[in-house]
Amino acid sequence: MKPAPFAYEKPRSLAQVFDLLARHGDEAKILAGGQSLIATLNMRLSAPALLIDINGLSELARITVADGVLRIGALVRHAALGASAEVRRHAPLLARAVPFIAHPAIRSRGTIGGSLAFADPAAELPACVVALGAQLELTGPRGARKLPARAFFTGLYQTALAPGELLTAIELPLGAADACCGFDELARRHGDYAMVGLAAQGSRAGAGFAALTPVFFGVGSGPVVARAAAAVLTAGALDAARLLAAQAALAEDLDPPPDLHGSARTKLHLARVLLGRVILGMATGSSS
Ligand SMILES: Cc1cc2nc3c(=O)[nH]c(=O)nc-3n(C[C@H](O)[C@H](O)[C@H](O)COP(=O)(O)OP(=O)(O)OC[C@H]3O[C@@H](n4cnc5c(N)ncnc54)[C@H](O)[C@@H]3O)c2cc1C
Repeated sequence: MKPAPFAYEKPRSLAQVFDLLARHGDEAKILAGGQSLIATLNMRLSAPALLIDINGLSELARITVADGVLRIGALVRHAALGASAEVRRHAPLLARAVPFIAHPAIRSRGTIGGSLAFADPAAELPACVVALGAQLELTGPRGARKLPARAFFTGLYQTALAPGELLTAIELPLGAADACCGFDELARRHGDYAMVGLAAQGSRAGAGFAALTPVFFGVGSGPVVARAAAAVLTAGALDAARLLAAQAALAEDLDPPPDLHGSARTKLHLARVLLGRVILGMATGSSS
């Protein structure tokens, strides 16, 4: 199918973007990598009168490290994210997740900002930024505000972006020396959206974890932090009994809606399998 006709603008500054958004309101859509938006236009799920192409804003495509913060511009492509030495060093969880996103052609166009703004509940990067405790920079005509990633995702394909605002950057505190991370997902074929996935960030303490944020995706309306399982896993040394107790505790954390991939029970089972794999990988150092 072909999209409904639309007008196209490619502004050269953020000020021009905000001006266009103010003038066209709901009739306008931001175009980043186009890897989700163009599909929705082609399927006529959306018919904006104007596309505002932000690919000319090179300042949004940078990755920098300064003042103890890793700053990733919203226009950084998935492929650039995975290849960045700064990301690999300071936020390896993101680099580990990238190969699971779709296929190389899509990763070469899709952007981190587009993925977060689209807020697909089965997407990898939303779960990663929540696990990493990222701050998201949202910019509008009156300036920028920062929001913790966990407050950004407000529902199924819903975010805290206000009308007229753009997601401009993702900021992460630089990783502590004892930080560790783990990532895995179960999909029908490599490159498909996950049936269930898990991104986890933490720090080790002796034979266990001092801190742990396990965030599941594909099991709810957005990223789901497994707080009950984390409480079990950080309460003492990791052994088989503790891991089993954490897997059991996932029943308190997750209430997966049944979907094409399986029943709620099947998805909870898959989440328990993933938790075991990821935590053992983090504990043995093979996941960080
Ligand atoms: C076949 C296929 C398979 C895929 N598989 C996966 C997968 O396994 N995992 C996964 O995570 N993704 C997958 N994707 C989606 C891909 O990762 C997209 O790149 C991503 O979801 C959207 O990024 P984009 O830059 O292409 O955004 P676009 O498609 O350009 O935009 C998406 C939405 O976000 C808005 N938007 C974009 N940037 C901003 C911004 N900076 N501020 C405010 N709003 C903004 C747009 O207006 C639009 O509503 C797949 C896509 C395809 C086509």
